[in-house]
Amino acid sequence: MIQLSTGDMLREARTSGTEMGKIVADVMDRGELVTDEIVIGLIREKLEGDAKGGFIFDGFPRTLAQADALEKLLAEMGQKLDHAIELQVNDEVLVGRIVNRAKEAVAAGGTARADDNEESLKKRLMEYYKKTSPLLGYYHAKGTLRGVDGLAEIGTVKASIAEILG
Ligand code: AMP
Repeated sequence: MIQLSTGDMLREARTSGTEMGKIVADVMDRGELVTDEIVIGLIREKLEGDAKGGFIFDGFPRTLAQADALEKLLAEMGQKLDHAIELQVNDEVLVGRIVNRAKEAVAAGGTARADDNEESLKKRLMEYYKKTSPLLGYYHAKGTLRGVDGLAEIGTVKASIAEILG
Protein backbone atom coordinates (compact mmCIF):
# COMPACT_ATOMS: atom_id res chain seq x y z
CA MET A 1 0.00 0.00 0.00
CA ILE A 2 1.17 3.55 -0.69
CA GLN A 3 1.46 5.68 2.44
CA LEU A 4 0.41 9.30 1.93
CA SER A 5 1.26 11.63 4.82
CA THR A 6 0.04 15.18 4.25
CA GLY A 7 2.43 16.36 7.02
CA ASP A 8 5.40 14.87 5.09
CA MET A 9 4.17 16.38 1.82
CA LEU A 10 3.83 19.81 3.42
CA ARG A 11 7.28 19.58 5.05
CA GLU A 12 8.70 18.70 1.63
CA ALA A 13 6.85 21.63 0.05
CA ARG A 14 8.31 24.09 2.57
CA THR A 15 11.89 23.02 1.91
CA SER A 16 11.38 23.37 -1.85
CA GLY A 17 11.22 27.16 -1.49
CA THR A 18 8.07 27.47 -3.64
CA GLU A 19 5.44 30.16 -3.01
CA MET A 20 3.12 27.51 -1.56
CA GLY A 21 5.95 26.26 0.67
CA LYS A 22 6.44 29.71 2.16
CA ILE A 23 2.74 30.12 2.86
CA VAL A 24 2.41 26.77 4.63
CA ALA A 25 5.60 27.13 6.71
CA ASP A 26 4.21 29.89 8.96
CA VAL A 27 0.87 28.14 9.38
CA MET A 28 2.52 24.84 10.33
CA ASP A 29 4.93 26.42 12.80
CA ARG A 30 2.03 28.08 14.59
CA GLY A 31 0.35 24.69 14.88
CA GLU A 32 -2.63 25.67 12.75
CA LEU A 33 -4.17 23.67 9.93
CA VAL A 34 -3.14 24.41 6.36
CA THR A 35 -6.11 25.31 4.10
CA ASP A 36 -8.30 22.52 2.76
CA GLU A 37 -7.65 23.75 -0.78
CA ILE A 38 -3.87 23.23 -0.52
CA VAL A 39 -4.09 19.87 1.23
CA ILE A 40 -6.75 18.45 -1.08
CA GLY A 41 -4.69 19.63 -4.08
CA LEU A 42 -1.65 17.70 -2.80
CA ILE A 43 -3.69 14.52 -2.27
CA ARG A 44 -5.36 14.84 -5.68
CA GLU A 45 -1.94 14.92 -7.38
CA LYS A 46 -0.78 11.78 -5.56
CA LEU A 47 -3.97 9.83 -6.22
CA GLU A 48 -3.40 10.20 -9.91
CA GLY A 49 -0.64 7.57 -9.58
CA ASP A 50 -0.96 3.81 -9.32
CA ALA A 51 -3.76 2.84 -6.95
CA LYS A 52 -3.93 -0.94 -7.29
CA GLY A 53 -2.52 -1.81 -3.85
CA GLY A 54 -4.53 0.88 -2.09
CA PHE A 55 -3.50 3.80 0.10
CA ILE A 56 -2.90 4.56 3.75
CA PHE A 57 -3.63 8.22 4.47
CA ASP A 58 -1.69 9.55 7.44
CA GLY A 59 -2.89 12.78 9.07
CA PHE A 60 -5.56 13.19 6.39
CA PRO A 61 -8.44 14.00 6.32
CA ARG A 62 -8.32 16.49 9.20
CA THR A 63 -11.56 18.39 8.48
CA LEU A 64 -15.05 17.46 7.29
CA ALA A 65 -14.42 19.32 4.01
CA GLN A 66 -11.31 17.17 3.44
CA ALA A 67 -13.28 14.00 4.23
CA ASP A 68 -15.98 14.95 1.69
CA ALA A 69 -13.36 15.80 -0.94
CA LEU A 70 -11.58 12.48 -0.35
CA GLU A 71 -14.81 10.56 -0.77
CA LYS A 72 -15.47 12.29 -4.10
CA LEU A 73 -11.90 11.74 -5.36
CA LEU A 74 -12.05 8.05 -4.48
CA ALA A 75 -15.50 7.66 -6.05
CA GLU A 76 -14.13 9.12 -9.31
CA MET A 77 -11.54 6.31 -9.23
CA GLY A 78 -14.17 3.67 -8.46
CA GLN A 79 -12.70 3.28 -4.95
CA LYS A 80 -13.91 3.88 -1.40
CA LEU A 81 -12.43 4.28 2.04
CA ASP A 82 -12.52 0.92 3.84
CA HIS A 83 -11.41 1.98 7.33
CA ALA A 84 -10.80 5.12 9.36
CA ILE A 85 -8.36 4.29 12.17
CA GLU A 86 -8.38 6.38 15.33
CA LEU A 87 -5.17 6.00 17.38
CA GLN A 88 -6.47 6.60 20.90
CA VAL A 89 -4.11 8.40 23.29
CA ASN A 90 -4.52 11.02 25.98
CA ASP A 91 -3.20 14.56 25.82
CA GLU A 92 -0.58 14.15 28.58
CA VAL A 93 1.00 11.14 26.87
CA LEU A 94 0.90 12.98 23.55
CA VAL A 95 2.72 15.99 25.01
CA GLY A 96 5.36 13.67 26.52
CA ARG A 97 5.89 11.92 23.19
CA ILE A 98 6.30 15.19 21.29
CA VAL A 99 8.82 16.51 23.82
CA ASN A 100 10.66 13.21 23.51
CA ARG A 101 10.59 13.32 19.69
CA ALA A 102 12.17 16.79 19.77
CA LYS A 103 14.90 15.58 22.18
CA GLU A 104 15.62 12.46 20.12
CA ALA A 105 15.94 14.50 16.91
CA VAL A 106 18.54 16.76 18.53
CA ALA A 107 20.37 13.81 20.14
CA ALA A 108 20.62 12.17 16.69
CA GLY A 109 22.40 15.27 15.39
CA GLY A 110 19.39 16.75 13.57
CA THR A 111 16.97 19.52 14.42
CA ALA A 112 13.59 19.26 16.09
CA ARG A 113 10.46 20.02 14.06
CA ALA A 114 9.63 23.71 14.36
CA ASP A 115 6.14 22.83 15.59
CA ASP A 116 7.34 20.37 18.26
CA ASN A 117 7.24 22.88 21.10
CA GLU A 118 4.73 23.44 23.86
CA GLU A 119 3.05 26.52 22.37
CA SER A 120 2.48 25.03 18.89
CA LEU A 121 1.40 21.76 20.42
CA LYS A 122 -1.33 23.46 22.46
CA LYS A 123 -2.61 25.03 19.26
CA ARG A 124 -2.42 21.69 17.41
CA LEU A 125 -4.49 20.01 20.09
CA MET A 126 -7.05 22.83 19.96
CA GLU A 127 -7.24 22.51 16.17
CA TYR A 128 -7.77 18.77 16.61
CA TYR A 129 -10.68 19.21 19.02
CA LYS A 130 -12.30 21.95 16.94
CA LYS A 131 -11.81 20.67 13.40
CA THR A 132 -10.69 17.02 13.36
CA SER A 133 -12.56 15.32 16.21
CA PRO A 134 -15.95 15.77 14.41
CA LEU A 135 -14.62 13.20 11.94
CA LEU A 136 -15.05 10.51 14.59
CA GLY A 137 -18.84 10.92 14.38
CA TYR A 138 -18.67 11.20 10.60
CA TYR A 139 -16.83 7.89 10.15
CA HIS A 140 -18.76 6.19 12.94
CA ALA A 141 -21.99 6.99 11.07
CA LYS A 142 -20.48 5.53 7.89
CA GLY A 143 -19.54 2.36 9.76
CA THR A 144 -15.83 2.69 8.96
CA LEU A 145 -14.42 3.94 12.28
CA ARG A 146 -11.98 1.57 14.01
CA GLY A 147 -10.34 2.39 17.33
CA VAL A 148 -6.79 1.31 18.18
CA ASP A 149 -5.24 1.72 21.63
CA GLY A 150 -2.34 4.05 20.90
CA LEU A 151 -1.04 3.69 24.47
CA ALA A 152 -0.04 0.07 23.85
CA GLU A 153 3.49 -1.04 22.87
CA ILE A 154 4.56 -0.15 19.32
CA GLY A 155 4.43 -3.82 18.23
CA THR A 156 0.91 -4.22 19.58
CA VAL A 157 -0.29 -1.05 17.85
CA LYS A 158 1.28 -2.25 14.60
CA ALA A 159 -0.38 -5.68 14.91
CA SER A 160 -3.79 -4.10 15.61
CA ILE A 161 -3.54 -1.92 12.51
CA ALA A 162 -2.33 -4.86 10.39
CA GLU A 163 -5.32 -6.89 11.57
CA ILE A 164 -7.76 -4.13 10.56
CA LEU A 165 -6.13 -3.84 7.14
CA GLY A 166 -6.40 -7.62 6.77
P1 AMP B 1 1.66 16.06 11.00
O1 AMP B 1 2.98 15.73 10.35
O2 AMP B 1 0.54 15.18 10.55
O3 AMP B 1 1.79 16.18 12.49
O4 AMP B 1 1.27 17.55 10.49
C1 AMP B 1 2.08 18.67 10.78
C2 AMP B 1 1.36 19.96 10.37
O5 AMP B 1 1.10 19.96 8.96
C3 AMP B 1 -0.02 20.17 11.01
O6 AMP B 1 0.05 20.74 12.30
C4 AMP B 1 -0.66 21.11 10.00
O7 AMP B 1 -0.14 22.44 10.10
C5 AMP B 1 -0.17 20.54 8.67
N1 AMP B 1 -1.06 19.46 8.16
C6 AMP B 1 -0.74 18.14 8.01
N2 AMP B 1 -1.79 17.45 7.50
C7 AMP B 1 -2.79 18.37 7.34
C8 AMP B 1 -4.13 18.29 6.89
N3 AMP B 1 -4.69 17.11 6.48
N4 AMP B 1 -4.87 19.44 6.86
C9 AMP B 1 -4.35 20.62 7.26
N5 AMP B 1 -3.10 20.78 7.73
C10 AMP B 1 -2.32 19.66 7.76
